Amino acid sequence: MKRKIILGRTGIEVTRLGFGGIPIQRVSEIEAIETVIHAIGHGVDFIDTSRAYTTSETRIGRALAEAGKEVVVATKSQQPGADKIRKDVDISLKELKRDKIELYQCHFVRDLDSYRKVTSKGGAFEGLCKAREEGLIEHVGITSHSIEVLDRALDDGLFETVMVCYSFLEPKAAEYFIPKALSCGTGVIIMKVFSGGVIEEASPALKYALAIEGTLVIPGVENKALFDENWKIFQGDLALTQEEQNEIDCLRENLGKQFCRRCDYCQPCPEEIPIQHVLGIKSMVKRIGPAVLDKEWVKTALDKARECTECGTCKEKCPYELPIPDLIKENIRWVERTCGERR
Ligand code: SF4
Ligand code: SF4
Repeated sequence: MKRKIILGRTGIEVTRLGFGGIPIQRVSEIEAIETVIHAIGHGVDFIDTSRAYTTSETRIGRALAEAGKEVVVATKSQQPGADKIRKDVDISLKELKRDKIELYQCHFVRDLDSYRKVTSKGGAFEGLCKAREEGLIEHVGITSHSIEVLDRALDDGLFETVMVCYSFLEPKAAEYFIPKALSCGTGVIIMKVFSGGVIEEASPALKYALAIEGTLVIPGVENKALFDENWKIFQGDLALTQEEQNEIDCLRENLGKQFCRRCDYCQPCPEEIPIQHVLGIKSMVKRIGPAVLDKEWVKTALDKARECTECGTCKEKCPYELPIPDLIKENIRWVERTCGERR
């Protein structure tokens, strides 16, 4: 298997194991910077971050200045409008301490309506094209949890890269989407190889994602030890062992019935409960740390969840037949226990 790839029509050559910049928000600044420098020192040459990841851009900027090596930097913004995303490009450049960002992405384009806004006149895509003409960014990409949105992006041919969720718990993207993207010369960046913290076994998760040749995989890590674990796997034999395949089968079996895929088909909830966020609370705490429970939007989501009337509307729409009202109650109880232990 090739350990370097050309990222679609961007023409950029990168090592297939990149660095996801979400988790470095939750450690000290020193640890975050040291982790990034450590990864670059080992050969990581693609780092992804976002305007939405609080301190991540700033910390990566400081690490890059210290590391002094050529690294491809990708960042992104959720701003849907041209002017606002153009301003975000300026902020990203400042935070990352760079004159130019190699890849700027429209971040988390939720559904086809959002996609239309982003790509219509005055939308974020236009703002990024302007930044590209000004020489501030080199390439424009898109990220989404919706394969439908990303597939439309492929058909429109506007974006040079797509960032898609893919793991052995969420393998749908491999059915037709990733092969289609690769065949039309779009760079494919795989996120959520650990399904947002639900999968704890690094080796089967990474090998499973890396098995799709031609893709770039960007697991997030927050410390050197976790990076070393991933890097060792990447450097070794990438074929899944029988034992790892058994682990995958076992996890699929155990989690399959109770695992939220964040597709939002269960919406709208009449009580406006953000179901996927409430069901994903444990993995969010695992990924970002218990401090996330103090964030206002998380508190609001949980307050809303307490108002669940158990009407069952969501349950009927969930394609995975999740017992949503029961899971909501269970997660609220878990949060209350976790908060109690923190006090
Ligand atoms: S059961 Fe609860 S979460 Fe589901 S739609 Fe009804 S109120 Fe919303
Ligand atoms: S509860 Fe079901 S329908 Fe709702 S986001 Fe999760 S997997 Fe999708």
